[in-house]
Order: sequence, then structure tokens, then C-alpha cells
Amino acid sequence: MFDIAIVGGGMVGAALAVATAQAGMKVALLERQQPGLITDDSAFDLRVSAINRRSEAWLQQLGAWQQLLVNRLAPYATLRAFEGNDAPLDFTAVELGEPHLGHIIENLHIQQALWQQLPATVEQFCPVQLLGYQQFHDYACLQTDQGEIKARLLIAADGAQSQLKQLAGIGSQGWLYQQACLLVHVNTGYDALPMTWQQFTSQGPRAYLPLPGKQASLVWYDDHLRIQQLAALSPHQLEQQIKQHFPAELGEFSVIKQGYFPLTRSHANQYVKGRLVLAGDAAHTINPLAGQGVNLGFADAQCLAALLVKQFAAGGDLAAPTLLAQYESERRKANLLMMSAMDVFYQVFSSKLKPLAQLRRLGLQVAAKAGPLKTYVGKYAAGLV
Ligand SMILES: Cc1cc2nc3c(=O)[nH]c(=O)nc-3n(C[C@H](O)[C@H](O)[C@H](O)COP(=O)(O)OP(=O)(O)OC[C@H]3O[C@@H](n4cnc5c(N)ncnc54)[C@H](O)[C@@H]3O)c2cc1C
Repeated sequence: MFDIAIVGGGMVGAALAVATAQAGMKVALLERQQPGLITDDSAFDLRVSAINRRSEAWLQQLGAWQQLLVNRLAPYATLRAFEGNDAPLDFTAVELGEPHLGHIIENLHIQQALWQQLPATVEQFCPVQLLGYQQFHDYACLQTDQGEIKARLLIAADGAQSQLKQLAGIGSQGWLYQQACLLVHVNTGYDALPMTWQQFTSQGPRAYLPLPGKQASLVWYDDHLRIQQLAALSPHQLEQQIKQHFPAELGEFSVIKQGYFPLTRSHANQYVKGRLVLAGDAAHTINPLAGQGVNLGFADAQCLAALLVKQFAAGGDLAAPTLLAQYESERRKANLLMMSAMDVFYQVFSSKLKPLAQLRRLGLQVAAKAGPLKTYVGKYAAGLV
């Protein structure tokens, strides 16, 4: 019998496995596909995340940050937002008295670092197929193609399409955004800037994320049809489109690869059902406009792990209703706040209505001068409050 069985060995599930196993819990980690291998010189993966300071601190505490390959990390010290040719709104690490605001890192790279940090006591089931699940009075059981796995507590960290959440009959509220995004990996003629920028246009934002060396990740938001059309272009054709629609400051570049991503917003109706608890994208997905998705997932994992470690040390039931209710109450509030902030952001910054567009330009200019509020927003984005 395991203390905990975690379904999904992505960034959030693997972090939970490390944190709980390091505290002595007997953990099973189930992942349906072998994670890809990242080496010093492997090609960059399209899926990258902006990892904020809070997530970085926790990954350091787990020892996983130290497993990352330094030459594949892109730190940034400025977050810039602007519209048209207006003066930009900059949040800088210097203003906040910090060395940097975050790093752009490949999702696979973070996952790999966490897997390398898994204590030897973690039993890995990978690749594994989940077939069903059942709950009993004092344990729960997963049916898989490798047999039954019993645990006191089950954690669903199996992403936005969580199979375990569906098996448990937990519903979600949400929608597909009218906008989708195109991720484009490019080679630039210059070393990556230590900043991320986002330009707002009436069709949707355009963003630049630095990657190590002379590389960058560009993000292009627009309606689904337009993004699908862009995704189907040849590298040369896409370069022409980017030159027309991104700021000229982007300079010389060549397209390496691109991919289309629909954007969804969803929030599970409950994070807890008996001996099952949800974390990360299995519980919530958010518009990636401000790069907060996995940062929220890590905050879920950190909160849940802290409660479980305390309960385990006290010899209590890891699925005690009061304990799991405390997790849900704490994390639901924080996740909802960020999701709602992103919704307002999305509505304001994707609107084609002229008065709203004018208000938004004015808002950016006022925000650029608003001292304490600006400092607070900068700290919130960097995960420092
Ligand atoms: C375009 C885009 C850009 C983004 N940019 C950012 C950003 O800059 N910053 C940020 O913080 N977030 C960003 N996000 C969000 C971020 O990618 C997600 O929040 C994050 O990947 C969620 O991690 P997770 O571990 O919860 O889920 P996932 O990454 O989806 O991992 C789930 C894991 O579970 C496994 N799995 C699934 N089903 C099963 C099953 N039945 N059995 C066993 N294993 C299973 C999967 O193989 C996978 O390994 C972005 C998202 C998108 C779409």
C-alpha cells in the first residue's frame, strides 16, 4: 500500500512526488509516456514556460533547480508591455531590488530535472495506462495495465484533459477563448535580450520570450482561423508575416519551428473527492497571456505538499477531509484571483472597441507612472507577493 499515488509525471506531478517522497512518504508516480530527453545540445522544445521567483525558490528547495542545465536557462530582468509606438510600461528587477524576475525554461527540461531529483524510494510506473479507479473506506485503488495500485491518497496531476478527474466524475466550468496562439521558435542575429515583451494590437498580443544564445520564442495571439493558417505556412512565408506584424525592433531572424495552441480556461468544480485531490492543470487552466499556468500549479503542489508533510509527521490520515478542505480553500481562492485578473486583462487587451482601446493605452501610460501600485503588480507577476 502506497501513502500516495500520483497520476501524471509532468512538472506538477513530479514536483509533488519529490516533495512528498523526500519527507519519507511511500509514493507511486504514474506517467503514461516516457519523458523526452534534454541534453546540453539537443534542439530546443517549443513548449517553454516563464518560471517566476516563487516557483524557482521552491524548485531550489527541492533540489531540482540544481539539476537544470545552466546553458538552457534564459533569465529575464524586465517585463515590458506596450501598444503602438507609445512609451512602454516596464517592470524591472532593479526597481524591485531583485537580480531577475524569472527564467524562460522548456517544460521538458523542468520535468527532467524533477525526475532526476526523485528519491529512489519513488516507484515509477512509466509508461502506464490508467484503466479505472475505485475508492474504499481507508484507501483508493487505481486499475492500470500493470495491475492494481493502492494508496491512502490519490493525486490527479494529469493535465488539462485529466482522465482521473473524468473517471471521478468531477466537472469543470470554463470555455475555449476566441483567440488561439502560435508559438514560433526563431534564431535571431543577436544574443537574446534579458527581457520579455508584449505588444498589444487590436488583433491580439505579440510577445517575445528570450531563449539561451541567439534564440527566442515568439508568441502570436489571434483568432483560431488566422493562427491555424499561420501554423501551416512554410518557414519563409511565416518570416514574411512576422516581419509585417511584429515590431521592427525584433530585427533579423529565421524561423526554426512553429505550433498552434488553442487556449482554454477551466476550473474544476471541486478539487477534492474523498481520497482524490487535483493539482495543476488538472484543477485549472488559464490564459497564458501572463505566463502564470504552471506557476499556479507549483503553488498548488507546494501548498498540498506542506500540508501532507505535516500530517504524515503527525501520523494522521493523508486524506483527512479537513486537511484536503484546507488545501482547496487556500488554492481555489488564489487560483480564481489570478484567473479572473487574466480574464479582465484578456477582455481589455483583445477588444477592438475604440473607447476600450483608448482606455487601455491611457491605462498603460498611467500605470507606467503609478509608483506603489506598479511595484505591487510587478511583484505579483514575478511571484514575489
Ligand atoms: C501556449 C502555452 C503557453 C504557456 N506558457 C506558460 C508560461 O509561460 N508560464 C507558465 O507558468 N505556464 C504556461 N503555460 C501553462 C503550462 O504549460 C501548464 O500550466 C503546465 O504544463 C501544467 O503542468 P501540469 O504538470 O499540471 O500538466 P501537464 O504539463 O499537462 O502534465 C501532465 C502530465 O500527465 C501525463 N498524463 C496525462 N494523462 C495521464 C494519464 N491518464 N495517466 C498517466 N499520466 C498522464 C502527461 O503525459 C503529462 O506528463 C502555457 C500553456 C500554453 C498552452
